[in-house]
Amino acid sequence: MRNVVIIGSGCAGNTAAIYTARANLKPLVVSGHEAGGQLSLTTLVENFPGFPEGIMGPELVENMKKQAQNFGAEYLHGAVIDTDLSTRPFRINVEGEWIETRTLIIASGASDRWLGLENEHRLIGHGVSSCATCDGFFYRGKKIMVVGGGDSAMEEANFLTRFGSEVALVHRREEFRASKIMLDRARHNPKIKFVMNTVVEDVFDVSQKLVTGVRLRNVKTGETWEQDVDGFFVAIGHIPNTKIFKGQIETDPDGYILSKGGARTNIAGVFHAGDVQDRTYRQAITASGAGCMAAIEAERYLEAEGH
Ligand code: NAP
Repeated sequence: MRNVVIIGSGCAGNTAAIYTARANLKPLVVSGHEAGGQLSLTTLVENFPGFPEGIMGPELVENMKKQAQNFGAEYLHGAVIDTDLSTRPFRINVEGEWIETRTLIIASGASDRWLGLENEHRLIGHGVSSCATCDGFFYRGKKIMVVGGGDSAMEEANFLTRFGSEVALVHRREEFRASKIMLDRARHNPKIKFVMNTVVEDVFDVSQKLVTGVRLRNVKTGETWEQDVDGFFVAIGHIPNTKIFKGQIETDPDGYILSKGGARTNIAGVFHAGDVQDRTYRQAITASGAGCMAAIEAERYLEAEGH
């Protein structure tokens, strides 16, 4: 029987592990399919406090893991395929093996939605990004492209005009999902050029390990063309990893966990941390903060129960 099981090994999960391990609760972290979370997909992280020269994302998250292990946290590779949160102790199925725990911290994150192009995937971290806040700085004076038609795309495009010489916003249809205010702001930004009814067919150039351009297609006319691009930002939404809790943990219609205050979910003893609940900030530092909150709540919950 575990005191604490943490699902997810990104910033939120690792920070929850550091805190619960230091509280002598010997947490078990189930690292999941995307071990290390979003940070493992980025390159240089320059906005995590404490690293004046920046730190590589994978290194930062690996350091957090080592820090947790130094205090006795255990890590289990594998993905949670099922959960039973209807009775105590909670039961978590990790690739066929059931684990019992008194408390659960859900830090399973939200996966970026990508276009699904083979070369897009290969160039992640080499010009392809899903985070303007993280990577915009690298494209000073460069040509930037943003894909998407929602608030994220508008926000990222606007933000990226601080850096890029130009920002092309590519959207697959005529109408936008973005709110009027965000759309208007983008429309009034002279650096943003809208490319409508257009999809991205390919991203170049894998052989150089660098984004150099894309091939676009107008879905109305069928016309295809190539365009030079240095930074390619995909902002077509996120998918919170909550499928395995469906019907048990309350979520909003998009699948993000509904917070019941602090790090609490609708089930006492089950806590949330990081992007699985947060669709707004989604930063390494906010996820870490949320991991800390969940750990403290789990600790207090166990204490109140006399463990
Ligand atoms: P979203 O609203 O779901 O928009 C996703 C956009 O990506 C849509 O325009 C969609 O096109 C497009 N898209 C999806 N799959 C695509 C594909 N395979 N190829 C090309 N385009 C694709 O997602 P979001 O912009 O991330 O926003 C999510 C939520 O967070 C929203 O509620 C939003 O209001 C909120 N948010 C708020 C702020 C803010 O207020 N500051 C900032 C960011 C996000 P279609 O329209 O054609 O489906």
